[in-house]
Amino acid sequence: MKPESSLDNILSFALTERRATKLYRSRRILESPQTPNVVVDGKSYVAFCSNDYLGLANHPQVISAFQQAANKFGVGSGASHLVAGHSSEHHALEEELAAFTGRDRALLFSTGYMANMGAITALVGQGDAIFEDRLNHASLLDGGLLSGARFQRFLHNDLANLQTRLDKTEAERKLIVVDGVFSMDGDCASVSELAALAQKNNAWLMVDDAHGFGCLGKNGGGSAEYFGLTQNELPILMGTLGKAFGTFGAFIAGSETLIETLIQFSRSYIYTTAMPPAVAAATRVSLRLLQTESWRREHLQTLIAHFRTGAQQLGLQLMDSFSPIQPIIIGDESRTLAIAEKLAERGILIIAIRPPTVAPGTSRLRITFSAEHKLAQVDHLLNALGDILGNAAHE
Ligand SMILES: *Cc1c(COP(=O)(O)O)cnc(C)c1O
Repeated sequence: MKPESSLDNILSFALTERRATKLYRSRRILESPQTPNVVVDGKSYVAFCSNDYLGLANHPQVISAFQQAANKFGVGSGASHLVAGHSSEHHALEEELAAFTGRDRALLFSTGYMANMGAITALVGQGDAIFEDRLNHASLLDGGLLSGARFQRFLHNDLANLQTRLDKTEAERKLIVVDGVFSMDGDCASVSELAALAQKNNAWLMVDDAHGFGCLGKNGGGSAEYFGLTQNELPILMGTLGKAFGTFGAFIAGSETLIETLIQFSRSYIYTTAMPPAVAAATRVSLRLLQTESWRREHLQTLIAHFRTGAQQLGLQLMDSFSPIQPIIIGDESRTLAIAEKLAERGILIIAIRPPTVAPGTSRLRITFSAEHKLAQVDHLLNALGDILGNAAHE
């Protein structure tokens, strides 16, 4: 036995280094529903860090739909969609998502990560080319790498840079992939321009609208609705259900042929258990609330505007974002952690986002708002930021 080469001995080097570089991550234990007032590790906080933008995760009607469907269908779906796990609730949700997005069809995936991996690898492979914004979500980047297509990252939202890269490719299939709303910055992709550029270059456009659905567009239809993009202009539209929908899972919406292709060839669709039918049933209700309770979107915009005005008065540097994602870049990892710690002492929960989630030197407080927040809570946050960041500036 050579202890120095044991699994734990070898692995602990990377852990020690993560700790030393202030990049170590640990989990907090949530002991309440995901609402603005949470209990974490036994303490109460006002939280500004969930993706439950519309406050539907704990909505009584969504909960009740979940309970009723569990009574009818049980808990586990018991099989993959292609075996015997595709329930009438899944099917109805797919039809409603297709109608909502104005696409021919929609296909449910168990998570957004799997939807992105599965869609990209089904659409491109060796000999093809994929172009991704460099700030794309990890699941899009991973899907691109796994696909075997020639993988390129273009400068953030830089269409000239993308065009230069498109000019140099001979590949027959060209796939352009972006986040609709960038998850760590909160800004929007220039999807109208991207759609035009894709058409001009005979490339396909895929938008991951995990943070757009529910928040953007009059009916919560996300980037496609906000920018008015048809299925023809934006043929591959992806959304997640664990954010503004307040439930769990994801979907891809598009043409009949696209969806049939994914059913036949998307490995993360085929080789996995279908989400519980009760999750689909709950999502059908949240989809209805997301469209009809438009006050949630309006209140969210009021909160965002209030925060931005207040933060600007404090001299804080904001990002170019009108989404519920309003990060404040701090830069240094340990300073970001220290500020998050000070906020926690004042009963405010905001997570320090560090590399490799964001680029080195751009660690940030990723502040997010929910329609369940009250203006007074935003004021509380602004006061705390003023005290902590104001003092820190004079250190
Ligand atoms: C959260 C997120 C995903 C992953 O979705 P999950 O359902 O949580 O796996 C994919 N893309 C983006 C942009 C996201 O923010």
